[in-house]
Amino acid sequence: AKKIAVLTSGGDAPGMNAAVRSVVRTAISFGMEVYGVKHGYNGLLRGEVDKMYLRSVSNIIQHGGTSLFTARSPEFNTPEGVQKAADKCRELGIDGVVVIGGDGSFRGARDLTGAGIPCIGVPGTIDNDISSSEYTIGYDTAMNTAMEMIDRIRDTTESHDRCSVVEVMGRRCGDIALNTGIAVGAIATLVPEVPFDFEKDLVDRIKYAQQTGKRHFIVVVAEGVGHSEEICKRIQEETGIESRATILGHVQRGGSPTLRDRVVASRMGYHAVELLRDGKSNRVVVMQGERIVDFDITEALNMPRTFDEKLYKISQDLSR
Ligand code: ATP
Repeated sequence: AKKIAVLTSGGDAPGMNAAVRSVVRTAISFGMEVYGVKHGYNGLLRGEVDKMYLRSVSNIIQHGGTSLFTARSPEFNTPEGVQKAADKCRELGIDGVVVIGGDGSFRGARDLTGAGIPCIGVPGTIDNDISSSEYTIGYDTAMNTAMEMIDRIRDTTESHDRCSVVEVMGRRCGDIALNTGIAVGAIATLVPEVPFDFEKDLVDRIKYAQQTGKRHFIVVVAEGVGHSEEICKRIQEETGIESRATILGHVQRGGSPTLRDRVVASRMGYHAVELLRDGKSNRVVVMQGERIVDFDITEALNMPRTFDEKLYKISQDLSR
């Protein structure tokens, strides 16, 4: 590819800016022309496409959100929309696109490749819910934010001898909850991957810890499990411990990206442009172990999700 574009799509994540910066600077280093597309696939359809230079991505590496803006595009999600976007790329002479987003965005990238425009996906989503990659851009920042917020909640929980039920993000993936639960010393962590028994996994755990002298409790609940308010009420009813529920919500989506997110985003963006330079298409850049590699998008989308059973066991055994 000689003239490439970059866009961010789906939910935003801290580190997306670092990825965009990396794509732009790498492309320029390789002698390519590079364009920034605003508002995800919507911007491609509407021609919101600007040429990017070295200085176009100045001073964004440390910022959360995405300076290219993001969108969910129902129009692109149709065969006609994909065709229209491909025609727009041809009109502009764009012969490669880097799509930073989640699985939905990768499906779009696969369809756009099918319509003749080589695409590369880069995983950007705080949930870490992309089965082909062990790590997604934004995940580390989101977990650290959740941890810091829960540390604050813990101060007040401790002062009042209370139980706090805290809901963290992760619709179908409990990774944020599991790691944050361990990091804050939660008495229980509920994730969508593991069914739970209210008496055994919550009430008994809390009562046992209470008998050994513990007086304040944190329960971490993944968004995909939900019902934090009800769980909280029921804990209070069955244990007699005053309980409060907090849903952290979008605070976890924002903020300055951590070092890990900035570095991984920089590496992944670089790898994406290398693939386009080498004439590759329909690939998704992923992390396996600590290595950055790539897979075919279609194969990546069909990979089964994995859950770290050992880490879950550790969280259970340490929650006492
Ligand atoms: P996140 O997981 O962070 O929400 P995502 O990339 O999975 O990110 P989606 O809203 O699922 O977010 O997808 C973003 C956009 O990708 C959609 O609005 C749509 O334009 C496009 N898209 C999703 N699925 C398809 C598909 N099957 N074919 C073509 N385009 C798609």
